[in-house]
Amino acid sequence: MFVDQAKIKIKAGDGGDGAVSFHREKYVAAGGPDGGDGGRGGDIVFQVDDNFSTLIDFRYKRKYVAERGQNGGARNCTGKSAPPLIVKVPRGTIVRDANTGRIMADMSTDEPKVLARGGNGGRGNVHFATSTRQIPKFAKPGYPGEEFEVTLELKLLADVGLVGFPNVGKSTLISVVSAAKPKIANYHFTTLTPVLGVVRAEEEKSFVMADIPGLIEGAGDGVGLGHEFLRHVERCRLIVHVVDVSGIEGRDPKEDFDIINAELAKFDEELAKRPQIVAANKSDMATEEQIADFRSFIEAKGIPFFCISAATTQGTQELIKKVSEVLDTLPPIKEYEPEPIPQAELDEMLGVDKKFDITVEDDVYCVEAPWIQPIMRTVDPNDWSSLQYFQRVLINSGIIAKLEEMGINEGDTVSIEGFEFDFVE
Ligand code: GDP
Ligand code: MG
Repeated sequence: MFVDQAKIKIKAGDGGDGAVSFHREKYVAAGGPDGGDGGRGGDIVFQVDDNFSTLIDFRYKRKYVAERGQNGGARNCTGKSAPPLIVKVPRGTIVRDANTGRIMADMSTDEPKVLARGGNGGRGNVHFATSTRQIPKFAKPGYPGEEFEVTLELKLLADVGLVGFPNVGKSTLISVVSAAKPKIANYHFTTLTPVLGVVRAEEEKSFVMADIPGLIEGAGDGVGLGHEFLRHVERCRLIVHVVDVSGIEGRDPKEDFDIINAELAKFDEELAKRPQIVAANKSDMATEEQIADFRSFIEAKGIPFFCISAATTQGTQELIKKVSEVLDTLPPIKEYEPEPIPQAELDEMLGVDKKFDITVEDDVYCVEAPWIQPIMRTVDPNDWSSLQYFQRVLINSGIIAKLEEMGINEGDTVSIEGFEFDFVE
């Protein structure tokens, strides 16, 4: 079964808890605190795997949870961080936040992408020893990992998409110009899954062609087959519009051409503007007049016209040569950029108008701001961009300005919800 849409839950691992422990040695009555930090929870990482061509696995397994980090231990032992959970998807999968529709990633390249970050481990009590608080009995729990509901949508990566009514010869065409072997039969809707074929145009030069299941009238309105397959043409750089010029099934090629284009436009205006080449197929069954009539109709629109017979391969090489030439002039396959988090959501996360309280204790500036906890849970102190983000939160929320107003000096310690760092101007 071909499945090209799915909705799943992903949850990165929670951080391990910090430990409460005290140094113990024979003959030493009471040692200092030595509880170590918890380990980081595992990330959820998406990775393209070309062994997969559909999203069917996600129909059966809908929840992906990465392991939590180990808890910290005695003797300042840091808990082990959990490994990432790798989720394998077919190439061309677009991942969106199910709640907002925001694009999180386009899995088109081999580059793995982190879609949910594991939570940081909690701090062990070894960090909470201050001169006034000599025996810290508390440690921090680990922070939860990020959690999302996401939709997966497969949009195939092909240079050329074949479109046309059922039974016009699309599958036959791809089977004679590439190694793809789709089902070919003389009845409608034989092609139920898109098929990709690599077409060798010249030595060292090839492109990918997609055989898309036949479009029927009303497909753009979601009636019947076709509509759900149009998303696979969306990324194509060029459309080869296959038309049965012989009218053997009692249809008019000109009408067919207009109907399919109307369907494309209904689905997406952009798609209707995509460059097209017309392949008038089954010419072996057509009369000279039929071909000439259809040719002048298409050429009057300024669209390149090729008369072919997929069954006998006549004219197919000329068509491929033209397709390759046109592709050379077109931009590369569309990749979707991850969309930024909407401003309103960002404001909330960045703590605009959020309240906080700062107290100074032994030159340590203690910031209390419960709302910052969900942000803290994913800040990775070893990652520069993560720290940049954290700094932005501190600036946007006014915490930095307040610290300066209170007379903080370079090198003083700031403690926010158990996370400590030196103040640098
Ligand atoms: P699709 O539904 O567009 O994929 O069409 P198919 O490739 O499955 O072809 C439908 C029928 O048309 C099959 O019986 C093919 O053998 C036949 N056919 C395809 N191309 C040609 C052609 O160039 N000439 C003739 N006479 N028949 C063809
Ligand atoms: Mg077919």
